[in-house]
Amino acid sequence: MQRQRNYPRLVCDLAGLRANVAQVTERCRAAGIQVTGVIKGINALLPLVTAFLEGGCSQLATSRLSQVEDCRSAGVDAPFLLLRVPQLCELADVVRLCQMSLESDVTTLDALEAECARQGREHSVLLMADLGDLREGFWGAEELVQAAVHVEKALPHLHLAGVGTNLGCYGSIRPTRAKLEELAELAEQVERAIGRRLELVSGGATTSYPLVVDGQMPERINHLRIGENILLGYDLRHEWGRTDLDYLNGQVFTLQAQVVEVRSKPSYPQGEIFIDAFGNRPEYEDRGIRRRALLALGKLDVGELSHLHPRLPGVTVLGGSSDHTILDVEDCPRPIQVGDVLEFDLSYSALLYLTAARDVSIDYHADSFSI
Ligand SMILES: *Cc1c(COP(=O)(O)O)cnc(C)c1O
Repeated sequence: MQRQRNYPRLVCDLAGLRANVAQVTERCRAAGIQVTGVIKGINALLPLVTAFLEGGCSQLATSRLSQVEDCRSAGVDAPFLLLRVPQLCELADVVRLCQMSLESDVTTLDALEAECARQGREHSVLLMADLGDLREGFWGAEELVQAAVHVEKALPHLHLAGVGTNLGCYGSIRPTRAKLEELAELAEQVERAIGRRLELVSGGATTSYPLVVDGQMPERINHLRIGENILLGYDLRHEWGRTDLDYLNGQVFTLQAQVVEVRSKPSYPQGEIFIDAFGNRPEYEDRGIRRRALLALGKLDVGELSHLHPRLPGVTVLGGSSDHTILDVEDCPRPIQVGDVLEFDLSYSALLYLTAARDVSIDYHADSFSI
């Protein structure tokens, strides 16, 4: 029998996380690049945030002000960069809580200036350039340079710290040396227009990290905002096929969930197939009678269930609903029984949901361990 514990449970290896932070920040530092640790993937859970700081990230970033507020209340006094371009309704908190923000709109910049004046504070901004990924950012050099000059000349409480870009999010655009040279060129155009050097040229996120380790990052890029590769080290290894990341601990996080039913059933639904609990029309493959296990874990806890990666060979995720995950365990070398606890590696989106889920208990291990 398993120990009496609360499942589902997310087990976090703090030493493993600290080590990952150190590995990534060291390699970037050697290439003249400062790393801001992105904590949105872990909902700013304090022991994990602390591991980011201890591992060597001196600046933190997130998309949500509520997370910054939590960190501030817990006594974290590291500088914060706000990643999502702010809503007009949240500027008072942006100025109060964050030292720096990403910006892409002149109306917002003007309102931010007014808010800074009201609070008697200064605030730094990175102007975002959209290089084709089509999420946030000024479009074209002229618009970016005009905004930069406006901040520099007309908004005395704002400090134009630099420019940045975001790739590989909406438009799936790969950060290449050529793309980042475009950013470096834009930075230089801004510098010519304002007559001084910018401190930061922020070349993106996890997906820009390969350019650093391959020695392909243009020299002007001196800042990255990294979350996923530090937390999970999954995307570059498994989606990009990078084989040179063995120094990253890929099991900082372990999801444990308990089996509530095991039974052999047909793999093809019986009756008239209509729509599932979420209004989708999934495809089902008829593989005959198969051994299936049901977990007490669902989309409410982890979002997309296909983003769970079973550690036990022979286990595959078939699907599920808000509160259940259905596994095929037919090919599993050991029999699975009710009460068993199965372990999973996670994707970024699963981590995002799990760290915010009400019914998931979270365990922290201070020392590296193997489960
Ligand atoms: C989430 C985010 C990042 C960090 O992305 P990772 O893939 O976790 O490294 C960086 N910049 C912006 C603007 C983001 O929203």
